[in-house]
Amino acid sequence: MELENLAIRKLEERGVKIEDIAEITLFLQEKYIENLSIDDCISYVKDVITKRESINAILTAIAIDEVAEKRLIDNEICNIILEDSGLYGIDEILALSIVNVHGSIALTNFGYADKIKPGIVKVLDNIGKQKQQCHTFLDDIVCAIAASAASRIAHYGIEKSK
Ligand code: MG
Repeated sequence: MELENLAIRKLEERGVKIEDIAEITLFLQEKYIENLSIDDCISYVKDVITKRESINAILTAIAIDEVAEKRLIDNEICNIILEDSGLYGIDEILALSIVNVHGSIALTNFGYADKIKPGIVKVLDNIGKQKQQCHTFLDDIVCAIAASAASRIAHYGIEKSK
């Protein structure tokens, strides 16, 4: 519970609210589930965040972004992370540790969200491009949580959250 609260607090400190992630889940799933609300999505996003795999991935991703931002690691790898090159790929691999426990619907939605960068993902991407902060790892984590929540909604429906 303590680590879960730390993960939520770190997300908020880095500019990501649970509602922001739920907006993406709603966007991914509203065409398939009738009457899906933002509150349903918030409930499912919270479910995903409470999992140990998610907490570990969130805290690790933000830690890497922060040490890169502060230039506390070797220049060579620091520059690669700050550059957020599409060919780097380790940021996506870390986020897959969340996606992998939620099945193939999570995986396909993760790829889709990573490609089109909805909502807060685009905001993080732009902040990173302007070199104000490093969100190389966090943007993938946000896509992974949103996609995993979408998968849980597909499997369990909206009744569970009521
Ligand atoms: Mg990334």
